[in-house]
Order: sequence, then C-alpha cells, then structure tokens
Amino acid sequence: MQTIDNFNFAGKKAIVRVDFNVPTKEGKVTDDTRIKGALPTLKKILADGGAVIMMSHMGKPKGKVDMKKSLSQIVSAVSAALGVDVKFAADCANADKEAAALKMGEALLLENLRFYAEEEGKPVDIEKEDPAYEEAKKAMKSKQKDFAKKLASYADCYVMDAFGTAHRKHASTAVIADYFDANNKMLGYLMEKEVKAVDAVLSDIKRPFTAIMGGSKVSTKIGIIENLLGKVDNLILCGGMTYTFAKAMGGKVGNSICEEDKLDVALDVMKKAKENGVNLVLGTDSVIAKDAVDWDTMSFKAGGQTKVAAATDIPEGWEGLDAGPESQKAFAAAIKGAKTILWNGPAGVFEIEEFTAGSRAIGAAIAEATKNGAFSLIGGGDSVACVNKFGLADQVSYISTGGGALLEAIEGKVLPGIAAIKGE
Ligand code: AMP
Repeated sequence: MQTIDNFNFAGKKAIVRVDFNVPTKEGKVTDDTRIKGALPTLKKILADGGAVIMMSHMGKPKGKVDMKKSLSQIVSAVSAALGVDVKFAADCANADKEAAALKMGEALLLENLRFYAEEEGKPVDIEKEDPAYEEAKKAMKSKQKDFAKKLASYADCYVMDAFGTAHRKHASTAVIADYFDANNKMLGYLMEKEVKAVDAVLSDIKRPFTAIMGGSKVSTKIGIIENLLGKVDNLILCGGMTYTFAKAMGGKVGNSICEEDKLDVALDVMKKAKENGVNLVLGTDSVIAKDAVDWDTMSFKAGGQTKVAAATDIPEGWEGLDAGPESQKAFAAAIKGAKTILWNGPAGVFEIEEFTAGSRAIGAAIAEATKNGAFSLIGGGDSVACVNKFGLADQVSYISTGGGALLEAIEGKVLPGIAAIKGE
C-alpha cells in the first residue's frame, strides 16, 4: 500500500478528502480542531512542491444547495491555518477550470460535496417504501460513480484523510479510489494516526482494559457493547442506558429515558458479561431531577429540583440525569487500575452544569490512569466535548476525530474508506 511518507508530491495535484465539517456561527468557524487535524497532510503536499485540492462535506444538506452549509464560509479560516491563500470552486462537480488553473504550491477548496446527492449515493425525494425506490437507488449508484470519476479527474493522486466519514462508502471517501492506481492513492497522516490508536485497543491490548460506554440509548450502541464483551475486563455502562438496565432488573425508573423494547437486550448483555468474566459496572445511584430541564435550550430551569436516589427506585415524575456519588466511585475504581481505556458517551446530561459530575469523575479517573501509564482513547463528539469542557484534553492519550467510524473500527469492521485505498 502506498504511504504518504513515501510519496513525493512534487509537480503533482493531490485531491484530499478532509473532514471540514466544522461548526460555524454567523459565517465564522467556531472550532477549528478539524481544520488543524488536516494540516500535517496538506502541508506535506505543499512542502513537497505539489498542489492541493481539498474536498469535504459540511452538515446534511441532503443533495441540495444550502448556503448555510457552504464551505465558502471557511475559506479564510483554512487559509489562515495553512498559511496559503486558498482558492474556492463554487461547484464541486464543475471545477475543471479552477483545478486546471491551480499551480504548484497553491491550494483549492471545493464547495460542499453533499450539495450533490451523488456524494452519499442515496436517492433523495423518494421514500424507501416507494416501489420505485430500488430502481432510483440503482440509478443513483451509477451517478455516484460518474461524480467520483469527475472529482478524480481534477488530480493526479488521491489522499483519504477524513476518518470521521471513513465508515461511509461515499463518492469522495471510497468510490473515487477506483479511479487511481495503487501507487497514486494513500491514507493521510490523520488517518494513519487514527488507525494506530484503534490498533492499540484492538490488537496491542495492555490489561486490564476498561471501556466506558455512555450516551442516551442502548439501541445505538448495542453492536459495540456486544463486541466489547469479548475484549474488555471492565465494562462501565452509564448515561441514559442505565435506566433500560434498571428497568430490566425490575427497578422503577420514573420518567427516565428507557427503551422498553430493549429490556431483553439488557438482560442478555448482563448474562454475556457473566459468561465472559467481564466486570460489568452499572450505575447504582443517580442524580434525579423533577421538571429541571428545558430540553429546547438544554438549560437548567429555575425552580427545578434535584436529589440523589437509587437508580432502580426513581419516583414517578422524576428522571435520572446523571450518575450519583456511589456510581462515580465505582466507575473511578474500574478506570484507575486500567492500562487500556476506551471512552464513548457521557455519563449524564453533561451539557447542563448540574449533571456533569458523573462525566467529570470519569474524565478525572482517565487522566489519572493515563498519568500512570495507561493508553486512553476518547471518541465520539460528546465525550470529546466533555474532555475539552473539563480541560483534560492534554491528559488523555488520544482523542479521535471519529464517532461512528471509531466504533465501527473497534468492532473490527473494515472501514470502506480504508478498504478502498487498500484495493479490497
Ligand atoms: P449519544 O449520542 O447516544 O452518545 O448520547 C449523547 C447524549 O446523551 C448527550 O446529549 C447527553 O445529554 C445524553 N444523556 C446522557 N445521559 C442521559 C440521561 N440520563 N438522560 C437523558 N439523556 C442523557
């Protein structure tokens, strides 16, 4: 497989799939972490004497032009980060002129790929139930190939460096690779780093291995939870998931988030944990609240009440929104002795200060374990936001730019973005 380190970009135009899906407010980039993440690859291409064509999606415009999601908003931020005046092509599927005019040492950014439905390769404006859907899907797959071929035509080589979308078989993340020979396609530095971090928790596991899975629902995480049961020594399940388990055990969960149709799944997880000798750590107590959250603004309502209760004994009208002190202690104990740590998903509604204690306790224990030599991998937007919010970003081993991609990689799935480069 070609590597970016071995490739000399001198005299070459490289088309790079970056992840510039950055947050913006009033046309300004509010967090440029993802832009910074792409810099090592972009700078290597320019330093070699090549030219760079950057392509990305932003948001979910669903195949339609939506100027609120235009990448034109980020041109000045990318220029500042890269130290080069970045040019802009306002139509990613008709950028022949801009690409041809690009000189070595220059950089061009293409408009949001998802302004074209071809990027994701899914038909729009037609329901899945529609009898014509399958036909439309087939037609779209063929259009997706044409779109990918067009993007490929702008450049001499292709670099895939968008880990966050590597689990999707989109035109720019995978299909495009078919239009370059094996010597002219490669992963970028960010991808290489992410793959190495995943490897540390997949193949080179130092034990004990503690995984912490939080967030709102069991249903979206069950694949990775089942997979982790075969790998970890300790599995902490926290956040909203706590209450599906509490209910499954016959507890009362009041108004807490609970997936009634997943009670058997929860019992099965508990059974498998026992069979595999995994120490399953569930929250035993919760910070519960009554009429305390304004869910529209994600803020604490004036006059809202909170107290601590057993996670299996929450009164009607109250809901569990964070891990209680006893749970926090149990979580910390399972984390502190670990040598490999994976954290995905918060232990409570961390967006609101009153419900951050559980996630804070987890973050602090991870920082301590890392100081004592553990490898800690944090992934998924919300856990990364927690680590940043608590000022712990430089006290963990690796913060992944991927959410879904990271979990799929850890499940052992081959990511289409990587398979396409490897020619699989
Ligand atoms: P996910 O996208 O599944 O990782 O879930 C992240 C979201 O879960 C965050 O927005 C949290 O506010 C939310 N969350 C965490 N704990 C709870 C809880 N006990 N009840 C409701 N939402 C929660």
